[in-house]
Amino acid sequence: MRGIISRFAPAPTGFLHLGHVVNAVHVWRETRTRSGTVLVRIEDHDRQRSRPEFEAAILEDLAWLGFEADAPMVRQSERHDIYAHALDRLRRQGLIYACSCSRARIEAAPAAQTGSATNAAGAAVPRAIRKGPAPIAGEADVAQAFRPADAELWYPGTCRHRGLAEGAGIGLRVRLEPSLERFVDLRLGAQEQRPSDQCGDLLVRDRGGNWTYQFAATVDDMVQGVTLVIRGLDLLASTGRQIQLARLLGRADPPAFLHHPLIMRSADRKLSKADGDTGIRELRAAGWAPADVIARALSLVD
Ligand code: GLU
Repeated sequence: MRGIISRFAPAPTGFLHLGHVVNAVHVWRETRTRSGTVLVRIEDHDRQRSRPEFEAAILEDLAWLGFEADAPMVRQSERHDIYAHALDRLRRQGLIYACSCSRARIEAAPAAQTGSATNAAGAAVPRAIRKGPAPIAGEADVAQAFRPADAELWYPGTCRHRGLAEGAGIGLRVRLEPSLERFVDLRLGAQEQRPSDQCGDLLVRDRGGNWTYQFAATVDDMVQGVTLVIRGLDLLASTGRQIQLARLLGRADPPAFLHHPLIMRSADRKLSKADGDTGIRELRAAGWAPADVIARALSLVD
């Protein structure tokens, strides 16, 4: 895997914390080992939650830690035309439909009655308990990957055949036909996921007009030529759907993936930006050196 391209893709919705540092270490180490190129992509697709001051602070902390990108940074908020173009491509295939469902409405849908599916081992799994990350190989990782608090929603296709008109306050979804996505995680080994059973038709634009993470990241990884995605285990369940979506967008070969362990705040909660005690800013203010911050971050993972 020479000449690979990877990316570090923080959302500027908070300050850099030790969880980001773990990710950055993996991204730069794995990429440098393969003589590859690291891109930095600011994932500010969520216009309500993203803040320029967080972006500036993240970039500044990253530079202080010594993580340097190999190309000019890009911002998702400046890539509207690229996403609109990708959307058109899906639209021309008849895969896009308007959706007026709120999150609360999807949560209230009787999803458990729509049947069951099989997990990677072929066992039947009732839909109601499949709203989390997909089953994965490597049992030790299961506890780390499973985050009940953030368990994802399965969209039951409520608006699929309603023929709603697009417009303000209406979201857009892409139809995901049943498919079995197989990939080899560079750390976990062979994986199987069924996106249509895990999440259902993906939201591409939300009702507030924001491009979604799944869509923007998949388009960017394709357009930027990213060939190795290195990220935390909390995003493992996103991989199958991103591979399926990339194929619909015309990507012939999906990137390779590597999902690394997270720092867990407690058994079922990963670190988040809200956890001020792990903010790099605070550690810097307390006189920590970059190498000590990196060592501290890595010491919390195992
Ligand atoms: N922006 C995402 C995050 O901050 C990372 C997305 C990815 O690596 O695919 O969690």
